[in-house]
Amino acid sequence: MKIVALAGGVGGAKLAHGLAQTLPPEDLTIIVNTGDDFEHLGLYISPDLDTVCYTLAGLANPDTGWGRVNETWQAISNIEKLGGQSWFHLGDQDLATHLERTRRLKEGQCLSEITRDFCKAWGIHHAVIPMSDNPIRTIVNTDEGELAFQEYFVHRRCEPRVKGFRFDGADKAQPTPGVREAIRSADAIVICPSNPWVSIAPILAVPGLRSKIEAKPIAAVSPIIGGQAVKGPAAKMYRELGIEPSALAVAKQYNGLVSHFVMDHIDSQLESDIRSLNMQTLIINTLMKTPDDRRQLAEDVLNFIGTNR
Ligand code: GDP
Ligand code: CA
Repeated sequence: MKIVALAGGVGGAKLAHGLAQTLPPEDLTIIVNTGDDFEHLGLYISPDLDTVCYTLAGLANPDTGWGRVNETWQAISNIEKLGGQSWFHLGDQDLATHLERTRRLKEGQCLSEITRDFCKAWGIHHAVIPMSDNPIRTIVNTDEGELAFQEYFVHRRCEPRVKGFRFDGADKAQPTPGVREAIRSADAIVICPSNPWVSIAPILAVPGLRSKIEAKPIAAVSPIIGGQAVKGPAAKMYRELGIEPSALAVAKQYNGLVSHFVMDHIDSQLESDIRSLNMQTLIINTLMKTPDDRRQLAEDVLNFIGTNR
């Protein structure tokens, strides 16, 4: 049974890794958010794509959830000594990815093609596809005006109050050809526990993508557990937009799209409200602390949606 997973960075990569441990390569395609991509120090950086790839390859830093394990920081600390920009942390091994990707993009190759080759080099057998080869940039509207995503997220540490989001370039973008193919042959879609505002919404903003998945069974795993984000600004974003952060808020955001909603034990009191949105519900442990937790959650989600091998 074929699955397409939609993923951002940290939360997305963990469930994607669980799915990759559970499904054979021909049955899983992971579509990754590129709304966070940006150019910095002359390099093209694709944070969510790299987090997913490093995680699947076993190269990710388990403490941060982003960047490489056993990383060193010689280049960026020397850039800092020269008075250059050092707010975006780039490790030495990680830099090799950005250097080589940038070189190939400048030669005219597309992001999906480069990603495919990098995956091969890293020993990743499952398909990892950027949502689009065209530039789509998440812009955060804040009380200090519009900020490019990494400016808001890393440079300003999510401090400005959020008023909304837009995905610059989305109207002119096309889904990567591999995305269309994978969705067409998928039996079900899994929305990973990624940030709904800035990881999943940009993927759904790619023209045609939402309408292509709509007809399939779609399972979503809540990234909000007990009213809080496990990591990152998701809960803060809900609050600043005037919404109480909860699994119910996530379900409401996916209302009309998602058929199967996966939520944590701790949120069981919200189940009837979520069911009244016309979603089937599954209450399990959704906190992935260990590689085993990732595999277990993946198996539970697949069983729930009825497509376990
Ligand atoms: P980012 O691109 O690195 O911000 O990563 P994502 O958007 O993919 O993931 C961020 C979201 O993942 C946050 O809202 C977290 O609450 C959620 N998250 C992280 N780890 C877990 C976990 O173990 N379980 C669940 N359910 N959510 C998680
Ligand atoms: Ca991200």
